[in-house]
Amino acid sequence: MIKDKTPISLSDIGEFGLINQLTKNIKLKHKTSLKGIGDDAAVIDCGDICRVITTDMLTEGIHFNLMYSPMKHLGYKSVMVNVSDVYAMNAIPKQITVSISVSSKFSIEAIEELYEGIHLACETYDVDLIGGDTVSSLTGLTISVTAIGEAKKEEIKYRSGAKLNDLICVSGNLGGAYMGLQILEREKDIYEKDNSIQPQLEGYDYILERQLKPEARKDIVEWFKAENIKVNALIDISDGLSSELIHICKESGKGCQIYPEKIPIDSATTDAAKELELEDLVTALHGGEDYELLFTVPMSEYKKVNDFEGVSIIGNITESGKAVLVTGEGEGVELVAQGWEGF
Ligand code: ADP
Ligand code: MG
Repeated sequence: MIKDKTPISLSDIGEFGLINQLTKNIKLKHKTSLKGIGDDAAVIDCGDICRVITTDMLTEGIHFNLMYSPMKHLGYKSVMVNVSDVYAMNAIPKQITVSISVSSKFSIEAIEELYEGIHLACETYDVDLIGGDTVSSLTGLTISVTAIGEAKKEEIKYRSGAKLNDLICVSGNLGGAYMGLQILEREKDIYEKDNSIQPQLEGYDYILERQLKPEARKDIVEWFKAENIKVNALIDISDGLSSELIHICKESGKGCQIYPEKIPIDSATTDAAKELELEDLVTALHGGEDYELLFTVPMSEYKKVNDFEGVSIIGNITESGKAVLVTGEGEGVELVAQGWEGF
């Protein structure tokens, strides 16, 4: 007799669980496939250089809401999230392809605006748009971008490279994009209840920009090169700091200690968090979409990293296998990823 098998729902296993389930039996056949699934981008050996390839898709209603995301910003961001994953391999983006699925509710002008943003991002990040696909959809808009980058084999940095006692560093500041989203959502809810009330967005410029027009940290990768920084592990922060720390620890077979007071948070993020009765530290740890770079370096790089404005040392790599937030007393709190889980 065949036993009833209870179907597992997607929301039970989450985005990472699903990817794992779908990809666990994949074996790479080609020597040129240096890295397949599991890092910010795949790596292909092309002889003198390696190419890195990454794809990210944005879907209306899930990743963006057209009530407050201008089309141009959306186009820019859809390219930016992909080049961020190329930088997260310490590679330089060179080409992108763009595929869109679009319903008839959109005007040509709206799609042209989307492409204005895409072209602007191509200029900013110095990449060529080399192809894509356009299909119709029954509802809404989906944008899928693939980015291709280049680096020498020895320059490529993986999530798995963290070594014991490495310093853990982060660029910029965290939590702003999440707070920007909370403000936009609040104003949308108010407007939906009463169309006569216009959204009050003045004074929130910084966090709104962090949400609507974030930038990938090209400058940090350039700094690594210029100062010859010895980076051991590298990842971009798309799903939230704790989620990415756990990725580095898991892939490197290590643990980490993070000092909450060292986590960089802008005062605009703190102010908005207070206003919405949230903890700024929680948004910095778990809010997604900051697109900063998280990396580890050996202790010997302390001076270079410490002297560089715009990079913070937030902790160190340990042997423990756990990502721990040091709370002053006792052993601290183990970090659990609460970042963006797609389902
Ligand atoms: P990131 O947050 O850096 O964009 P993701 O969490 O989206 O990375 O993806 C993690 C890994 O899983 C990547 O190597 C990605 O290529 C791979 N991946 C995601 N979805 C699929 C899928 N449907 N099939 C095969 N591989 C996938
Ligand atoms: Mg990434």
